[in-house]
Amino acid sequence: MQQVAINGYGTIGKRVADAVRQQPDMEVLGVAKTRPNFEAETAIDKGFPLYAAIEEREELFAEAGLEIAGPVEDLVAEADVVVDATPSGIGAQNKELYEEHDTPALYQGGEDAELTDVSFNARSNFEDAVDADHVRVVSCNTTGLSRVIAPLREAYGVEKVRATLVRRGGDPGQSDRGPINDILPNPVTIPSHHGPDVETIFPDLDIDTLGMKVPATLMHMHSLNVTLEEDVDASEVRELFADESRLFLIPERMDIDGSGTLKEYALDAGRPRGDIWENCIWEESVSTVGRDLYLFQGIHQESDVVPENVDAIRAVTGSADAAESIETTNETLGIGL
Ligand code: NAD
Repeated sequence: MQQVAINGYGTIGKRVADAVRQQPDMEVLGVAKTRPNFEAETAIDKGFPLYAAIEEREELFAEAGLEIAGPVEDLVAEADVVVDATPSGIGAQNKELYEEHDTPALYQGGEDAELTDVSFNARSNFEDAVDADHVRVVSCNTTGLSRVIAPLREAYGVEKVRATLVRRGGDPGQSDRGPINDILPNPVTIPSHHGPDVETIFPDLDIDTLGMKVPATLMHMHSLNVTLEEDVDASEVRELFADESRLFLIPERMDIDGSGTLKEYALDAGRPRGDIWENCIWEESVSTVGRDLYLFQGIHQESDVVPENVDAIRAVTGSADAAESIETTNETLGIGL
């Protein structure tokens, strides 16, 4: 049984903690937080031992009536692996702590690729992370792009990827983010940084990306054009995608017209927090013109990296191979809409 520490219990960390708890081969040893907010209270209610990420703030938890199990150092020392889900840049500051205790660590997509030995996507390069000490689970957008690119490369070869990422302004809880009434080229420079990030998974890939930000919180939307190395019929690509466990092909009959109805569907289906771990590809949008493939996909930024973190835990601890891990994660979470 792998003992997993979660440092940073926010949007990603709390979801990873719940997912780890559902695995037959792992346990949540504890979660670390910087302050006693609603998420700290929920962690206690769920029975996760709560550790103080910053020692001087420990008394704030006591004042709020929340029992602290100890400092984060104790948690890291005892864990087999730590999942760092702190805000961008903090993971880099925490690396020394993990190294001091010789605890392998996973970081999130907000960290620089150079921080770690490997950037990780379970479908694309699980083996690269086996027994690695420092692994970065790539961002929600890079995860979403990699899951589509990997099967296309294997089946047909990919000459070039062009993607426009229409990004949500902030997560639903981020009241300080925006825009609230605008459409921003973001980043305004082209190509955007997302393409190079995907190249951390596929170093020889030719990809250009453009980014925008819009007043939405629910999901990102990708408009994708992939030039394949051979002429392919759209129906073949749809069949290829249908075999991929983390790609959900939205059938026309469902009458799902956007991220609002997608989230509504996820809530109706009983998904925790309305999470959608799969890429949501509109089946009708999967089209080909010669060697060019086009599609639209929705990416639930708060949750698509969650199963990837679970698989990365198995990779760094060498406790399962890619196929076994992905199958276990999918089954336990209920992936496959
Ligand atoms: P978040 O702000 O929701 O959560 C981060 C948590 O870490 C908060 O609870 C914060 O209080 C805590 N924290 C801050 N400093 C800390 C410290 N020194 N030690 C321990 N905990 C600390 O952030 P998030 O959205 O969960 O993002 C975490 C990482 O995941 C980032 O790298 C981000 O880029 C990446 N990511 C985010 C999303 C998303 O859409 N939210 C998607 C994919 C990847």
